[in-house]
Amino acid sequence: MTGIDDLPVRDELRGKSPYGAPQLDVPVRLNTNENPYPLPEPLVERIAERVREAARNLNRYPDRDAVELRTELAKYLTRTGGHRVGVENVWAANGSNEVIQQLLQTFGGPGRTAIGFEPSYSMHTLIARGTGTAWISGPRNEDFTIDLAAATRAITESRPDVVFITTPNNPTGNAVPRETVLALYEAAQAAKPSMVVVDEAYVEFSHGDSLLPLIEGRPNLVVSRTMSKAFGAAGLRLGYLAAHPAVVDAVQLVRLPYHLSAVAQATALAALEHTDTLLGYVEQLKAERDRLVAELRAIGYDVTESDANFVQFGRFADSHEAWQKILDQGVLVRDNGVPGWLRVSAGTPAENDAFLDAVRELKKEQSA
Ligand SMILES: *Cc1c(COP(=O)(O)O)cnc(C)c1O
Repeated sequence: MTGIDDLPVRDELRGKSPYGAPQLDVPVRLNTNENPYPLPEPLVERIAERVREAARNLNRYPDRDAVELRTELAKYLTRTGGHRVGVENVWAANGSNEVIQQLLQTFGGPGRTAIGFEPSYSMHTLIARGTGTAWISGPRNEDFTIDLAAATRAITESRPDVVFITTPNNPTGNAVPRETVLALYEAAQAAKPSMVVVDEAYVEFSHGDSLLPLIEGRPNLVVSRTMSKAFGAAGLRLGYLAAHPAVVDAVQLVRLPYHLSAVAQATALAALEHTDTLLGYVEQLKAERDRLVAELRAIGYDVTESDANFVQFGRFADSHEAWQKILDQGVLVRDNGVPGWLRVSAGTPAENDAFLDAVRELKKEQSA
C-alpha cells in the first residue's frame, strides 16, 4: 500500500497528521465551539434571495476585492469594536484560517519564525508548518495566563517574525489583558520588528472589550476575526482582519485572485443584515457559558475562567479516559491534548443539561 511517506512530500510534512476534531455521530456534540443555534428562518430566506441574485452573474468572476462586504464588516467593527475603521482597514477570506494563512505567507515563510503561547489554537502551528514557517512554542503559567516576563524573554531571545496572541484563548477560554498585549507588542517591535496577530475569534463572547482600538498607530498589529462563532456561520467560511491599510495591501500580494466566491460574499452580506438577531443568540450563549462555569464548580471540577463560548474543565488523572466516559453517555466534548483538562462548547440549554448530567455521573464514579 502506498502511503503519504512513499510520496515525495516536503520533509516537514512527513509523519504528521491533519487537523482532526472528531466528527462523531452522537446526540450532543459540544466539541468544536460551533454556535448551536441554526440561522433564523428570515435570514435563511434573505441568504436565498441574495444568492439567487448572485447566481445571475456567476458567469463572471466575483468582486476580487470584496468591497461591499469589507465595507459592511468595517461598519460592524466600528459599531461594536470601540474604534472607527473603514473598508481600507479590513480584509476578508475563507475563514480566519485563510486570513492567518495569508498573513503567514506574507510575513512568515521559509527562513522565518512564528511564536504562540501554548496551549493555544493548534491551527496557528499547522498553518505555520504548511507555509514553511518555523514554529516556536512560547510559555504559559500553570493557570494558563501568559507569564509576561517569560513571554517577553521568549520574544527577545527568539526574535520571531510573527507573534500570535489568542484572546480569548482557545482551548483554555481566558482572555489576555490589554496591558499584556501592549507589552508583548513593544517587545516584538524592539526585537525585530515583527507582526503581532491578535486572534479575536471569540471576542463577541467576552466580558471585556475588543482590542481593535490598538491598531491605531500600530501598523504591525493585526486583529483577526471570524463569522464562524458569534455569527453562527461556521459553514459559511468567512474570516476577516482589521489593520493598517498597508497590511491589507500586503496580503493582496499572496491571496489567490477571486479567492472569495460570489456566493460566499452574498451569504455573508445577508448575515450582516441580521447582526442584531445573531448577537441576541450570543447573549444567550454567554449566560449558558456562565451557567456551565458555575455548575461545573458546584459539582467539584476545576474550571478555567472563560471569556469564550466554551469552558475548560478538569482535572483528570487521565483526560482521554474521562473524554471517553462522557462520550459513552452520548456527549462529545474535546480532548485538546492539554494534560488533565477537557473542553466543552456552550450548547443549547438542553444540550448543556445533558452534558452536566454526564459529568455529574463521572464525578460520582470517580469519587466512589
Ligand atoms: C474557531 C477559531 C478560529 C476560526 O476559524 P475559521 O477559519 O474562521 O472558522 C480562529 N481562531 C481561533 C482561535 C479559533 O478557535
